[in-house]
Amino acid sequence: MSKDYYELLGVAKTATADDLKKAYRKMAMQHHPDRNPGDKKAEEKFKEISQAYEVLSDEQKRAAYDRYGHQAFTQAGGAGAGGMGGGAGGFDFSSSFADIFEDLFGMGGGAGRGGRQQGGSANAAARGSDLRYNLSISLEEAFKGKSETIKVTTSVACDACHGSGGEKGTKPITCPTCNGDGRIRASQGFFTVERTCHTCQGLGKVIKDPCRVCAGSGRTRKEKTLAVNIPAGVEEGTRIRLSDEGEVGMRGGAAGDLYIFLSIKAHPIFKRDGADIYCEIPIKMTTATLGGAIEVPTIDCGRVKVTIPEGTQTGHQFRLRGKGMSILRSSSRGDMYIQTSVETPVKLSKKQRELIREFEKTDAGSSPASESFLGRMKDFWEDLKE
Ligand SMILES: [Zn+2]
Ligand SMILES: [Zn+2]
Repeated sequence: MSKDYYELLGVAKTATADDLKKAYRKMAMQHHPDRNPGDKKAEEKFKEISQAYEVLSDEQKRAAYDRYGHQAFTQAGGAGAGGMGGGAGGFDFSSSFADIFEDLFGMGGGAGRGGRQQGGSANAAARGSDLRYNLSISLEEAFKGKSETIKVTTSVACDACHGSGGEKGTKPITCPTCNGDGRIRASQGFFTVERTCHTCQGLGKVIKDPCRVCAGSGRTRKEKTLAVNIPAGVEEGTRIRLSDEGEVGMRGGAAGDLYIFLSIKAHPIFKRDGADIYCEIPIKMTTATLGGAIEVPTIDCGRVKVTIPEGTQTGHQFRLRGKGMSILRSSSRGDMYIQTSVETPVKLSKKQRELIREFEKTDAGSSPASESFLGRMKDFWEDLKE
């Protein structure tokens, strides 16, 4: 998946915006899912080239790609500071695509996914893209809940032009191509097709004097520090949405959202199943035989004494009510289950060996399961003889 974006599009690193657009159009025509129905490979390829184009067609993203490579746009799992997974990636189908697809298919909507304003004013600036942030937490943190601080590099409104994209003191003018409509109608044979105006990208206004800081886009890249509140009881795959913390749109477009995708690290002792916690505990043969008490850890960092009755077998399950995981938006807790595994003694001394031998001489009736199995086995062989 992590192929070089330039290679994917078959262009040189020095390709101009125009070269990129041409290369992308050609490949998108070829691999577009509408033209290759049911062809998974084409679909995958189409996604790859679209992603490549999405990045390379955006000046700022391209610069970041050239500098930092793929990592700037994919999830660097676990590479973050303090062992925290993540880094903001985010991939947006909306902004740079809509008009290219309109080019390809003659009309709006054909394949532009999301993003595009539905009906209403054509002049509204498009909303920025959503971002994804992967965050990995421990099971204890999922139990207790946590406030976490994350750093995300995103697009924010340009300070110099307040997101307008115009140089200070200038105002955008009505687009001369579409007279401020944002859309143009053209006749093609019998049809009249309407498409987004290319001069103004559908905004209805053009900037004559682009802001020098953001080159007219109205936004700049910035690292933001955000507080994330992780509630107690979250599950693997829980998504937390931070509204309006995604990328801000071009030229004053509303901001997208930031989604935190939670994953929970495997725990060395506990296994979670929804609200319940399972814990397999080895117990000594002597404890299992004679009975006794063991101490077990709990997810709330406490400990609980469990009475092991005489003659406990491997696989016996004890339930500790209310000692499981916390439940999201609830004050109750799941249960904890302890499964015993009786450990057969190893590395016996001569003395111990003698004691066990001694026991063996008198053990009739002390292992009913083994004895009854022996009985069934004999019957089985008897039956075979007849
Ligand atoms: Zn600016
Ligand atoms: Zn226009």
